[in-house]
Amino acid sequence: MSTPRVGIGFDSHRLVPDRPLLLGGVRIEYELGLLGHSDGDVLAHGLIDALLGAAGLGDIGELYPDDDSRFEGTDSMHLLSDTYGRVTALNLRLGNADATLLAGAPRLGPFRDAIRDSISTALHSEPGQVNVKFKTPEALGALESAPFIAAQVIVLLEPAKD
Ligand code: MG
Repeated sequence: MSTPRVGIGFDSHRLVPDRPLLLGGVRIEYELGLLGHSDGDVLAHGLIDALLGAAGLGDIGELYPDDDSRFEGTDSMHLLSDTYGRVTALNLRLGNADATLLAGAPRLGPFRDAIRDSISTALHSEPGQVNVKFKTPEALGALESAPFIAAQVIVLLEPAKD
């Protein structure tokens, strides 16, 4: 593809006991983790959908169905790497990615740099091409204390210069 392409992704997962909490491939020690058929990495899933959207490749449910036993408990960063391989095969590269995570708890600010580094490594990019922001639900009643994390992601893909 020869022109820049944008894509958006959104995902949300419930926080439950006895699950790991992984965000962008970074393990965060917390009493709850994200429920999902895979490892539940909501940020990786949002990124995957944003990349697929920008590349015109459909969505995460088509490529990695959650009723397919091959993806049970799978490392979502492997799926992200697989997705990026499909993107680069179309002669596209990451321009930049910007993500917002919505979570009442835990506080995620201390993990910002680690998450950015993990994502940029998976996308063969520089940390400066990836931005991650954190929001807490405010004035949303029951949502403020609801155990979940949501991710919204936008990416810009650019034609590869070779
Ligand atoms: Mg998901």
